[in-house]
Amino acid sequence: MKLADRTTRIATSPTMKVTATVDRLRRTGVEVIDFGAGEPDFSTPEPVKDAGHAALDANFTRYTPVPGIADLRRSICARYKADYGVDYTESETIVTAGGKQALYNTALVLFGAGDEVITHAPYWPTLTEQVKLADATPVLVRTYPEDGFAVRAQALLDAVTPRTRGIILNSPGNPTGALVAESEVRQIGEFAARHDIWVVADLCYDKLIYDQVPHNLPKVLTETCREQTVLCGSASKAYAMTGWRCGWQLGPAAVIAASSAIQSHSTSNVTSITQKAAVEAISGPQTPVRAMLDEYRNRRDLLHQWLTADPRLRCAKPAGAFYMFVDISDVLSVDGLRTSLDFADALLDEARVAVTPGEAFDAPGFIRISYATSTENLREGSKRLRDFVAKHAPQAATA
Ligand code: PMP
Repeated sequence: MKLADRTTRIATSPTMKVTATVDRLRRTGVEVIDFGAGEPDFSTPEPVKDAGHAALDANFTRYTPVPGIADLRRSICARYKADYGVDYTESETIVTAGGKQALYNTALVLFGAGDEVITHAPYWPTLTEQVKLADATPVLVRTYPEDGFAVRAQALLDAVTPRTRGIILNSPGNPTGALVAESEVRQIGEFAARHDIWVVADLCYDKLIYDQVPHNLPKVLTETCREQTVLCGSASKAYAMTGWRCGWQLGPAAVIAASSAIQSHSTSNVTSITQKAAVEAISGPQTPVRAMLDEYRNRRDLLHQWLTADPRLRCAKPAGAFYMFVDISDVLSVDGLRTSLDFADALLDEARVAVTPGEAFDAPGFIRISYATSTENLREGSKRLRDFVAKHAPQAATA
């Protein structure tokens, strides 16, 4: 069978693979604690669901304009104005099928053959696969656990060549939960303005930041390089709306118009009902967002305490998102567990705990644990994980 060349350059999302395996096991009656899921375990807030029901009851079920209904585009602009103090207009906004499509539109509009696009590793694999789908080449700049996975502007700028077309930032980051500091983004923005390079900011986890730290990346980027900036956001994580598929891009009108043209030939508008629900999520009271954030913080603190009871499970408390990125290199190379992939496979097989191996994020030696699950699951899952480590690496006694 002859498939197009691009299929050989693209791998299936490894994070989605974990979800599929858990699904398969559960369907055969196996009970699994799922730390793989990259989505909130909360239900969509009631007023948002009500808005969806109302849209259905009002037969709001036809095509809408490709870039989204005016109400929603305006709500998105108003939220960015309220939260970040930045000014975007309706023609500088498009509604997309999740943050994923926002990022994909952006990649297709900005990048092409021969272009290099820099991003920071460990990274969410979709970011680099999309760059490849746009026929461009991802260039990776490593960040380090001992430095809190901090993204250093200088390191990114050192990777710039005459072929560099863009820099993609993800903050809070998946899988590390690290934030990119405003000061580093300012340096990147100033450089981008001088050298006419695009800056794409994946802000899909921007509502999930645990401490009061300065993180106004939209402001910094619009101040330094507004004409070269595309902001990508999503209702998925902030409002527990992963299945509704709603995200957006904010950027120069020409980028949005080109994104709309591409979208008009691929998926057209985002589901009409979803759009009405998203208006309520984005412009209604933000109390559910804060309630979920408080609960995630509580879980993060407990999970950190439970995991680090074994000092070989090394991890820092993440600043944002809902993942703990755990360095397990101390327990590898023993008992047949040579890689974090082996570790994750054996953990699922023997202890029925699903985690995502670091290989999925170009970070072997780590596992990603999602704490978007109940405290009870976190307690039981971390106990199974510690027992698993104690069984396979008993020689280094735990604290
Ligand atoms: N960016 C990052 C870093 C993510 O982890 C995800 C979801 N896993 C997304 C974007 C996109 O999510 P969605 O398409 O549901 O908005």
